[in-house]
Amino acid sequence: MKKPVPVPTPATRPFWNALAEGKLRLQQCRACSTVFYYPRTCCPACLSPELDWREVAGTGTLYTYTIARRPTHPLFADEVPQRLAVVELDEGPKLTSTLVNLRDEDIRIGMRLAPVFEKQADGRTMLLRFQPADESLRSDARAEGGARQAPLPEVSALTPEVLAYVGRTGEAVTGYPVTAEEIRRYCYAVDDLDPRWLDLATPGGVSAPPMFVSIPFDIDRPLHELSEDGTALEHRGVIFPPVTLKRKLFGGLEIEWFRELRPGDVLTRQYRVLDIVERRGASGPSVFVRIEGTYCNQHGEKVAVEVNTIICR
Ligand SMILES: [Zn+2]
Repeated sequence: MKKPVPVPTPATRPFWNALAEGKLRLQQCRACSTVFYYPRTCCPACLSPELDWREVAGTGTLYTYTIARRPTHPLFADEVPQRLAVVELDEGPKLTSTLVNLRDEDIRIGMRLAPVFEKQADGRTMLLRFQPADESLRSDARAEGGARQAPLPEVSALTPEVLAYVGRTGEAVTGYPVTAEEIRRYCYAVDDLDPRWLDLATPGGVSAPPMFVSIPFDIDRPLHELSEDGTALEHRGVIFPPVTLKRKLFGGLEIEWFRELRPGDVLTRQYRVLDIVERRGASGPSVFVRIEGTYCNQHGEKVAVEVNTIICR
């Protein structure tokens, strides 16, 4: 799993090329002298297309920030907490970046910042981060910060018992029959009022929106309709490796849709463990488990396949 890197466009290429050389270049308008960011083909102040690239020091002040303690995307789970920041450069433009080499408690709006050019795993792309201009605030200058950066012991969470789950499937579970009423209830709950799902006069009849597929497994039913051991259908057939890390985070859902789902259809769902990958970051190991759920109708035809990513930390 590789992190995405920026893809230069004709308008942004000079900016990325400068970063690759460890320099920050901004555009300046020849007509009105405005310096601006992000890169554009005409001046945001006077619309002149006559623009120059000008090298700047990259120093600025912290305009605002937020500390993201949960990953905003599975590929960035090894970077939490992320100190997301808007930096006001000395030339005026503001840009969004990440603060590095400092402790959370030392972050102050208005603090002076200096650029850090950070080479990415592809060996070419350089990203612009910011660190305190005051060297005494940099965590690599502090014993405590240095200790925190010490490599973690190499104990993998991917034990043979965990890895044995790759490719394993759960029990196939059949859901409750789809009804027009449940489709309506779902659509009103998620505010998706498309007539294809709701208008009974639709040619061919109503169908269900793609994200409805898991609903026939978690409709509230009278107790006497539950399975003998009382387990809700929602939790039946779920398969998950015995990862010992404490926390589980939802890392996203992708769904591929093959055919329409209509009232009267009965879905059967089966889960399978697609892959289990470990990544090690500054805050410890994360294990990414991808679980595929395949939904077939009563004719054995594939209706949808979903892939859930669960992050264990
Ligand atoms: Zn201008």
